[in-house]
Amino acid sequence: MRTRILKVNPRRPELQKIREAAKMIKRGSIVAFPTETVYGLGANALDSKAVRKIFVAKGRPSDNPLIVHIYDKSDLARLAVDVPKIMDRISEKFWPGPLTVVLRKTKIVPKITTGGLDTVAVRMPSNLIARSLIREAGTPIAAPSANYFGRPSPTAAEHVLEDMNGRIGLVIDGGRTRIGIESTVIDLTSNIPILLRPGGVSIEQLQKEIGRVVIHPLLRGKKSRAAHRSPGMKYKHYTPNAQVILVEGQSGKVRKKIIRLAGKLKKQGKRVGVVCMSKARYNAHAVRVVGPSYEKFAASLFGTFREFDLKKIDVILVQAIPKKGIGFGIMNRLEKAASTKIKAD
Ligand code: AMP
Ligand code: MG
Repeated sequence: MRTRILKVNPRRPELQKIREAAKMIKRGSIVAFPTETVYGLGANALDSKAVRKIFVAKGRPSDNPLIVHIYDKSDLARLAVDVPKIMDRISEKFWPGPLTVVLRKTKIVPKITTGGLDTVAVRMPSNLIARSLIREAGTPIAAPSANYFGRPSPTAAEHVLEDMNGRIGLVIDGGRTRIGIESTVIDLTSNIPILLRPGGVSIEQLQKEIGRVVIHPLLRGKKSRAAHRSPGMKYKHYTPNAQVILVEGQSGKVRKKIIRLAGKLKKQGKRVGVVCMSKARYNAHAVRVVGPSYEKFAASLFGTFREFDLKKIDVILVQAIPKKGIGFGIMNRLEKAASTKIKAD
């Protein structure tokens, strides 16, 4: 299969081009497209044959559910039942945007879309290309991140091509994604909302708008039998080819530790990459300053992993950050990507 790239203006998506992509979705094909979080690999969420193609193209295990993307808040009623009252406030404050809610599904949502679960994850994205694609397709679009299973999520069309060239028919190129890590996922099927995945919306923002939110024990590093709530939580994720080492501690000490480690690894003949919040004299093969804000860190994290892979880096040393704001989402991705965590002292 040849993979075509369709360049679309992210500020004013050309209707003709969007209609062309929407036609492919309607015909049961899969299309990669940008959202404000990362690039998604989309299919008609209500067509099980089309959705199966996503799992095949990604090499994704079939028990790992997809997020269903909608155009309008009113589309939720077709997909979910027993929607709690709190959903009104959630959609008013956070939609369109990087927040996904898990609710009990209706019959029209096929099991393959939800990884066999009787719940469905739904999000209304804000990215204009994503929105017009869903509108023109006239159907909700199921889409996981458009990377090959286990790889870092794509934040640019080139990243999608690295993993999916020849595996899918079309990539819409709408430039770099704004947020750079995936959406926040909350489960609304019990009395108190449960955070399943930290992401583009921070837990502090959620708590401010909707009150109490429980953090799933797995996110606090605890083993839990409730892991089945979000099967995706159990899989290894976001990993570059390089080994990732996360260095924690006070930033001055972390800097010194990374400098020492980089020297040691180089002596062992390793190609070393450093990801850090501020500049210093790191004697490494590649250095990426991702600060000063956590928002900038999130926006460049996955792209940096991919860039370092292209540079044949063997070990990536990453400065850990506090789990505040979007920092919680960043650290969640880093902890999943890292093989080792060390403390600087
Ligand atoms: P991705 O689209 O690759 O960002 O992954 C979507 C993630 O959303 C999954 O890995 C799950 O963790 C979560 N998710 C999707 N659907 C559900 C669901 N029905 N229940 C719980 N979590 C879900
Ligand atoms: Mg993913």
